[in-house]
Amino acid sequence: MQKVVVFTTGGTIAMKPDPAGCGVVPAVSGADLLEAVPGLKDLCNVEVREFSNIPSCQMTPQRMLELACQVARAQKEGDVQGVVITHGTDTIEESAYLLDTVLCDEKPVVFTAAMRAASDTSADGPANIACAVRTALDDAARGLGVVVVLNEQIHAAAEVTKTHAANPAAFASPWWGPLGYVDADRVIIARRPAVRRHFCPPALGGEVYLLKMCAGCDASVLDMLIERRAAGFVVEGFGRGNVPPLVQQAMLRAVRLGIPVVLTTRCGAGRPYYAYGYEGGGKIFHENGIIFAGDTSGPKARLRLMLALGMTSDMQALHSFFD
Ligand code: ASP
Repeated sequence: MQKVVVFTTGGTIAMKPDPAGCGVVPAVSGADLLEAVPGLKDLCNVEVREFSNIPSCQMTPQRMLELACQVARAQKEGDVQGVVITHGTDTIEESAYLLDTVLCDEKPVVFTAAMRAASDTSADGPANIACAVRTALDDAARGLGVVVVLNEQIHAAAEVTKTHAANPAAFASPWWGPLGYVDADRVIIARRPAVRRHFCPPALGGEVYLLKMCAGCDASVLDMLIERRAAGFVVEGFGRGNVPPLVQQAMLRAVRLGIPVVLTTRCGAGRPYYAYGYEGGGKIFHENGIIFAGDTSGPKARLRLMLALGMTSDMQALHSFFD
């Protein structure tokens, strides 16, 4: 019988109300989580490995990297067909993205989660786990990279995002759409994601800050972080990557001081581009060493810069990680 390793990390999928009435908290063991999935034992041999039991607001890039190492080891085991990771929905897209960047084995790695707690009416966890395990077992999922499976949809780690705070249909890949879906009798993959560059540093390269732009914001936060010698910044600009003029000046100051600055768009889809030549426009960034993040979202670009800084601090070389 084929084998799937399920790493449990926590999240609402493993939560129940606290007996003292303090709200929903981590409570369900890995074994109990799988016990709640009807028919799972008939699908394959499932081995649970408890990595953590935390809400995903407590997940960190360091923990993600440790998880990646354990997953890489599991992928090397000859009898393992694929890996499933249960996670909180709040930061699942970040963990999935980090693992997608550092792992290069063809064997499927499938993240899943639940929007409803294990104790809620119509909890979505068991069905999501079943779909994730079926995806991990399917040859069509080999070489897809890390995917996120919820609500029967299969999303690429680089494209997926949580789009609603509570609804079970919260996950989407805006402008791209899912890679496929899990149907009653088979897993259907309609397209394969773009080719990705994999790299795995021995350690993360320091704290990178993400700053989201809004109309009229000034440079105080950026200046404070420059003074504290932050390892790097990601700025979510408007539209094509434009920012308020004061912020623009601070970003250029940071680069002159050797602090890498990555530019993304706050639009949720599309790329920053050197279209506008006015004060605050993106053109000057292109000419002055700011790194353009392409389609990568702000939180994912932050992880990418932290990983890239673990490989090099050379500005020119850092650009190549975002090409
Ligand atoms: N707060 C939860 C988390 O751990 C949300 C969820 O899993 O849906 O991310």
